[in-house]
Amino acid sequence: MGFEDNIRKVTPYTPGEQPKKKVIKLNTNECPYPPSPGVFDTLNGLDWEKLRLYPDPVMSDLLDSIAEHYKVKPSEVFAGVGSDDVLSMCFLTFFAGDKPVFFPDITYSFYDVWAEVYRIPYETKKLNDDFRINAGDYYADNGGVVIANPNAPTGIGESLGLIEDIISHNEDSVVIVDEAYIDFGAESALPLIRKYDNLIVVRTMSKSRAMAGMRIGYCFGSERLIKYLNDVKYSVNSYTLNYPSIAAGTAAMKDEEYFNDVVNRIKATRERTEKEFSKLGFSYYPSDTNFLFAKPPEGHEASEIFERLKEKGIYVRYFKKDRISDRLRITIGTDEEMDCLFKALREILEDR
Ligand code: PMP
Repeated sequence: MGFEDNIRKVTPYTPGEQPKKKVIKLNTNECPYPPSPGVFDTLNGLDWEKLRLYPDPVMSDLLDSIAEHYKVKPSEVFAGVGSDDVLSMCFLTFFAGDKPVFFPDITYSFYDVWAEVYRIPYETKKLNDDFRINAGDYYADNGGVVIANPNAPTGIGESLGLIEDIISHNEDSVVIVDEAYIDFGAESALPLIRKYDNLIVVRTMSKSRAMAGMRIGYCFGSERLIKYLNDVKYSVNSYTLNYPSIAAGTAAMKDEEYFNDVVNRIKATRERTEKEFSKLGFSYYPSDTNFLFAKPPEGHEASEIFERLKEKGIYVRYFKKDRISDRLRITIGTDEEMDCLFKALREILEDR
């Protein structure tokens, strides 16, 4: 069939909807609060003439501010266009062998897409019935391991002990720990990057730093692994983050007080939401993230509630997938937004 045979055909990742109309948006785990005031000051003070120039390919201001904040060396940090870009570069760089890469059956649904697009063999490992990881599943010979901790869409964080157990059993492959939601719960594996040279810890500014629209992600690892990542990056696209993103990301790392305040507010609203959901008869595992993965009370279908909420202008996420199609993933919004959600859910559950 001519050129059709030469085309790389993939089933893409499906991002959550970004509706144009004004809705209560609890479907893509964005932060309900704005970025820090320092980010606005920085963006307002930018020299727009500079858009003429290519941005700094090394992103040294950004890497320096991240390194300073986390007390690592800039050469132990890599940045990209959101953690999706960082993770994609990690898959391309570290998973170039023939053995299968391991990750859980229920996790961030981009992992299998990157594996497919880069033609990386992979095997999923079944989480147990409580959506927990069995570390022993990751002891077998493999081409790499990817663990989201806390996991998505389950919201469950595993102990650092379990994560370290997996890392230490895999000294011959790179272990990626995706910590997109770590600021909301669970213990980070970051202190282990000096102990294990096969570890990469991935972070994002999209959630706790309220900048999904800026697309800034980064990761930590040994200088050797970070160099390999940069070599691949410079072989694909040297200028990844643009000038405003580099400046905004640099500023965001400096406003610690604002950051802590936002995270604490989200955690407090999460606690309220968990209580309200119990009252409504939903079941859930306590969340270590900025979302709740909840199962409606007996006799109610998650898919139906998803549609009914949408009709009421409240967007949440529903995955029509094995083992999780009976649940909804609901981002923690502001208290006011959650009050609207509770009211809508009450109406839907009563209206039978
Ligand atoms: N990892 C996980 C587990 C996520 O849920 C997300 C958000 N979709 C990402 C990575 C990517 O986020 P971003 O590209 O905005 O940094």
